[in-house]
Amino acid sequence: MENITPSNFIEQEIVSDIKEKGLKTIVTRFPPEPNGYTHIGHAKAICIDFMTAKKFKGYTNLRMDDTNPSKESMHYVKALMNDIKWLGFKWKHMYYASDYYEFIYDCAIDLIKQGKAFVCDLSADEISATRGTLTEPGKESPYRNRSIEENLKLFEDMRAGKFADGTRTLRAKIDMAHPNINMRDPVIYRIQHVRHFRQGDKWCIYPMYDFAHPLSDAHEGITHSLCSLEFEDHRPLYNWVIDNCRLIKGVKPRQIEFARLNIDGTVLSKRYFISIVNKGYVDGWDDPRMPTLAGFRRKGYTANSIKEFCKRIGVSKSNSLVQPHILEACIREELNQNATRVVAVVDPIKVNITNYDSAKAEKIKISNNPTVKNSKSHTMMFTNELYIEREDFMIEPTPKFFRLVPNGYVRLMGAYVIKCDEVVKDENGNIDHLNCSIVYDAKEQGIKPKGTIHWLSRKYSERVRTRKYGNLLKEGEVYEEEILDKIINPESMIEKVSYVEPSALKQKSNMQFVRMGYYIEDKKLSKKGDRIYIETVSLKDSK
Ligand code: ATP
Ligand code: MG
Repeated sequence: MENITPSNFIEQEIVSDIKEKGLKTIVTRFPPEPNGYTHIGHAKAICIDFMTAKKFKGYTNLRMDDTNPSKESMHYVKALMNDIKWLGFKWKHMYYASDYYEFIYDCAIDLIKQGKAFVCDLSADEISATRGTLTEPGKESPYRNRSIEENLKLFEDMRAGKFADGTRTLRAKIDMAHPNINMRDPVIYRIQHVRHFRQGDKWCIYPMYDFAHPLSDAHEGITHSLCSLEFEDHRPLYNWVIDNCRLIKGVKPRQIEFARLNIDGTVLSKRYFISIVNKGYVDGWDDPRMPTLAGFRRKGYTANSIKEFCKRIGVSKSNSLVQPHILEACIREELNQNATRVVAVVDPIKVNITNYDSAKAEKIKISNNPTVKNSKSHTMMFTNELYIEREDFMIEPTPKFFRLVPNGYVRLMGAYVIKCDEVVKDENGNIDHLNCSIVYDAKEQGIKPKGTIHWLSRKYSERVRTRKYGNLLKEGEVYEEEILDKIINPESMIEKVSYVEPSALKQKSNMQFVRMGYYIEDKKLSKKGDRIYIETVSLKDSK
């Protein structure tokens, strides 16, 4: 381990810990609370936890931080496990903080015996009112100087269920004048008569995160407890717990914080997710508009693209706002290499070729992936009745529009040069179809169209639905629960009736709809006879 070259500040710290403390094995953990699905911010933490341990040939545990029974469930545990596996990481042990409740309780008893914890009868409001401010010290609780015997008795009574929720807490006795407010006699146990999804009704007192977390780390032999920056202010308490709980044996874990991932325009908060799921703004935690791994997966993102993103944003000590195009570039680059090319007309208009035999059909070759050397190809049929993309035609073209216009020429990809002879409208004045003719002797006439567009035979194509997803909140809006209905973007999903070449229906993995974007079949809703394709990412960065 001595000759490992650190590539970020966390690894630097670990290298010096190895030297100073003589650590033999580096152990990290990923500690999600099973009260929601894994989101892209968690993916950053997961990558850091697993990759750091791997670099030092150590290991990582998965620990469910299930100390908040009113919000947690096995459903979320399974979803979290599934996502971490999907990312391709293997944990060494899977634990639950609730498995340590007995140990954590014993640590609390030990603190009481040392005179370092007391049962407090103040209400939650009274506790926060006496906590003080950044500039003023807090006020000591009138219950602070209870005898050890009385505290032991009361804490046992708390466990035995003799008191109602919120009537008493166990608080660490530290320092009400401490400059760090988290150190002002923090609550370490609360009474909650709530059924726990694994422990059932065994407990009616639950340890607070700040107490359970360091003890769980220590109990598992975690050497480095890596977490996001909002826990920095909690580190003194983390260390206080580690230093004062005498039941801890072995190496003392060390907390190191890294910048939380924030993506511009993306809300990464479980409260928000739960709210939009429950209010039906999305179709579940795996909705393609959700920044959850389930959402990204359904949208066609690969595990590699997510990991590549985490690699590109790096590990830093200060918070910053990451631009979403960085993530999009990761999947786009991968799909450019891997995605099979097929033709789809996402938003069709009809084209009739007036000088092509209606009984005729020609095979046209399409490369499966022109970026790959010697890539295979497949065939498409050309007939007299076609679809082209609505955006490839303009009645009154803007300057620099090089695709089809009335009386203009365009090349049909892999096939002929055509001329638009007539725009036929319906009774409402909308385009019904275009009458076009093939210019068989375009070369001889010296006609070289500047634009090439894709097309599909109406006879040899399949009708499908395509969906493009945008931001769930209107541009520039910031999430506020109270005004959610006003800031939700009504056009965050746009569905179109589209057509694809028949071979597309066989593609289960990512495809490029040539010239249009990367798409994938929606595994949740698509079915035979009603196929739905989701846009993973556009072909080009919109910026
Ligand atoms: P909540 O939204 O309820 O605060 P959370 O996102 O913090 O929840 P946890 O399950 O507690 O969810 O997080 C598990 C781990 O993931 C924590 O160690 C936390 O540091 C890390 N984490 C959470 N959000 C981010 C983020 N945006 N960037 C980096 N790491 C994160
Ligand atoms: Mg949290």
